[in-house]
Amino acid sequence: MLISFEGIDGCGKSTQARLLAQRLETAGYRTLLVREPGGTELSERIRGLLLDPALDIDPFAELLLFSAARRQLVVERIRPALQAGYIVLCDRFYDSTTAYQGGGRGVVELAWLRDFNRRVTDGLVPDRTYWLDVPLEVALARRDQAGDPDRMERADPAFFERVRATYAQLATEEPDRILRLDATASIETLHETIWNDVQRLLPP
Ligand code: C5P
Repeated sequence: MLISFEGIDGCGKSTQARLLAQRLETAGYRTLLVREPGGTELSERIRGLLLDPALDIDPFAELLLFSAARRQLVVERIRPALQAGYIVLCDRFYDSTTAYQGGGRGVVELAWLRDFNRRVTDGLVPDRTYWLDVPLEVALARRDQAGDPDRMERADPAFFERVRATYAQLATEEPDRILRLDATASIETLHETIWNDVQRLLPP
């Protein structure tokens, strides 16, 4: 089973992915938690390039770099883990590319991206995606508290509004897969909501 966590920066998805991984492991499920971009030697190196404030990266090159990192992660870690019966938790997956590079940067049409994403993952689709939705002001306040913004986080508020709007569009298009969660709720409340939902999806 593959579960992904999505949302704009500062939504708290990494915290929720970690809490769910711990809960699943405690319950006896073999679990793999990976982050995007990252999770393999190559993908972590690409992450370093993507987040480097000193680099000026063309938006289409950025799309290809995120996708290359994802491709390697799918082939090297996610597919083998799924085949071995692991529950795989992904801190971001291809919806991030649709939202950030597609909706946010407007690099290519979303229809093109849908097809491209499918090719990058060989058709691998998450069984469930948690979209942690948070108003922009809340996310920006959390970001400012966190300190030095990376290259991506320096984008202007209008960019993040477009990213959020694209997540909303995706959730409308795929309501059976993408669950919108109010990420202004407390960490514990969100975790319990996610845990209750996951339990219904788990194999007996
Ligand atoms: O999820 P995380 O915050 O670690 O992502 C690293 C950075 O990459 C973030 O600033 C995020 O906004 C950005 N990102 C992006 N496009 C993606 C995925 C992540 O701009 N497809």
